[in-house]
This record gives sequence, structure tokens and C-alpha cells, in this order.
Amino acid sequence: MPELSITGTLVNYFVLCRRKAWLAVHGLWMEQESEAVALGRLLDETTYADELQHVNVEVEGHEGLRLAGRIDWAELRDGVLHETKRSPSGLEAHRWQLRFYLWLLKLRGVTRPDGRPFEGQLNFPRQRRTEAVTLTADEEARLRTLVQELHQTAALPTPPPRLENRRFCKKCAYEELCFG
Ligand code: SF4
Repeated sequence: MPELSITGTLVNYFVLCRRKAWLAVHGLWMEQESEAVALGRLLDETTYADELQHVNVEVEGHEGLRLAGRIDWAELRDGVLHETKRSPSGLEAHRWQLRFYLWLLKLRGVTRPDGRPFEGQLNFPRQRRTEAVTLTADEEARLRTLVQELHQTAALPTPPPRLENRRFCKKCAYEELCFG
């Protein structure tokens, strides 16, 4: 396996389902073929077209792990990172993805002009809903463990087992691969 970059999307997948993260790491990016995801992306890009400003961040984390994030858009002056999602389904995974981006900025020493840390905002334009996300010290410690676990899972020769709750898998682009 080529050297792995741990990305926010992988963190999101890993929180949802370890198998999903493994499949993505091993080159099975089925999401690209998912109509729902394509629609979501289009929605993202039209809703915030005026403010769209992707920000790429790369950091060498502890133990040499390469951490990378592509942040949807950011209000740099106000210190707010935005992540836009089609639906709140998988909300906890969305939160960890955004916390991961906040962590990357912190590791890079990037703060607001007044020295305070960046904050995050999850945007659900379809639901006209937003949610504030911050990063506590405990969550930062959890992220450190999470990326280690992700790295170890990615190195497994075979994928972790399927989720038991198939209902949860209905919206996953890998469903046919896992259950077909
Ligand atoms: S279909 Fe279910 S078990 Fe398979 S990768 Fe998706 S969430 Fe995981």
C-alpha cells in the first residue's frame, strides 16, 4: 500500500464504519459513482458559490503520519471553517471530520488574528440548518487515537467485517459490494 494520507473524508468514513474506510483506502472510491453524493457536491458548490474558497492543509502528525484536509470553505478573518453536508445523517461522523480540520489548523499553528483557535460550522443547506463545532482537549486526544486506529485498520490485509445493522448501510455506496 502506498504511503497513506489520513484525510477528513477517511476520518468521516471510519467513524461511520471501519470497513468503509478500509475499502476507500484500498482504492474503491465508490462514492464517486453515487448519484446522491454527486448531487450533494453540486448543491455545495451552487449554494456557497460566492464564498467558496477551498483550503488545503497538510501536516505531518505524531509518529510521522501524514494528515491532510480539504476544507470546504473558510472565513479566515473570522476564524470559521465550514463543512457543507447534504443531510445530518451520520452527524457524529460529520462532527469528527470538522474537528479533524480544526485539529490540523491547530497543529499548523494557525489561529484567528487575536490568537484564539478556529471554530467550525457544519452547514446543511437543504435543512437550512447549521451546527457549531469546536475542539476540546479530550476530543483532540480522541482524534490522535482515532488516526492511529485508522492507520492500523488501513494496513489490514482484508477489510473489517460488515456492519450488523444493514439498515444503516442502505445509504452507503458500498452496499452492493458488501451485501450483493
Ligand atoms: S455497506 Fe455498510 S458495512 Fe459496507 S462499507 Fe457501507 S456502511 Fe460499511
